[in-house]
Amino acid sequence: MDAIKDQLDCCTLCPRRCGVNRNAGDRGFCGAGGRAEVFTCGAHHGEEPPVSGTRGSGTVFFSRCTLRCIYCQNYRFSQSGEGREYETSGLAGLLRSLQVTGCHNWNFVSPTPWLPFIHDAVEQLDRDGVSLPVVYNTSGFENTGTIAGLGGLVDIYLTDLRYADEKTARAASGSGDYARLARESLLEMWRQAGPLELDDDGIAVAGTICRLLILPGHAGEAVDNLRWLADNIGTDIAVSVMAQYTPTHRAAGDPWGRRISIGEYEAVRDAVEELGFENGWVQEFEGETSKELMGFNMKPISPGETGRQGR
Ligand code: SF4
Repeated sequence: MDAIKDQLDCCTLCPRRCGVNRNAGDRGFCGAGGRAEVFTCGAHHGEEPPVSGTRGSGTVFFSRCTLRCIYCQNYRFSQSGEGREYETSGLAGLLRSLQVTGCHNWNFVSPTPWLPFIHDAVEQLDRDGVSLPVVYNTSGFENTGTIAGLGGLVDIYLTDLRYADEKTARAASGSGDYARLARESLLEMWRQAGPLELDDDGIAVAGTICRLLILPGHAGEAVDNLRWLADNIGTDIAVSVMAQYTPTHRAAGDPWGRRISIGEYEAVRDAVEELGFENGWVQEFEGETSKELMGFNMKPISPGETGRQGR
């Protein structure tokens, strides 16, 4: 991790490779500075069942993001930068409170700009005998080299494969090379963490979950990504198909201004079955006009076989 810690002097943690000196107060594309910024944290029950478990996932929603998705539901803190600054000891205090609350894991959302602080806080707590599985909850827009440096810190990768077409990625998230980078990074995550592993209570302790958000007008890209997963990783990776897209923030016009259609939903759901994915969840279709944002309502593809026992 030392190489990653040094990167605040010339930040290249993510594929933007801004090269700014965040320790000197400079800020790059994401706007992250020299102290951790957190919008909120707490026990979250809306993740995949083995991550949320019964007591919730100890989720830390960091401010800032390396993408600029036009449909981002979290834009207040991901793009507008709302949040509060914390010293490493303060971040460790948040993590400790999540552990005391009984959360199953520490779930870092959009963690990449904050990796040095996460590493120090987790290490500090480890020295005090406090630890939980670490969930790296990412859009997938990552440097493979950064991911390669996370061995020993991250237990569970919870990552997206959102686009297969560079034009879509550029238009919707401002990142033309998303598909290539997300796939390369996922290969490294899989090399490190492998298939999802559960303990005797069905709680995730290690492994990889790949999320596929069905986007209006672009369901075919989710199918392309499922095919890529089957061909390049295998059908034993846990997949989580999400149908919750809701127009928000700057999402307007065709196709971004609508929810997904039943036909788009069925195309992706059918691909999961036809390609033979063994583990994961497909979110239920909520309707083209539903405004419901909360709850994942996942159903397992293979009930009772969402992972392997123990580690
Ligand atoms: S983490 Fe932020 S500052 Fe660092 S390279 Fe990425 S966008 Fe730039």
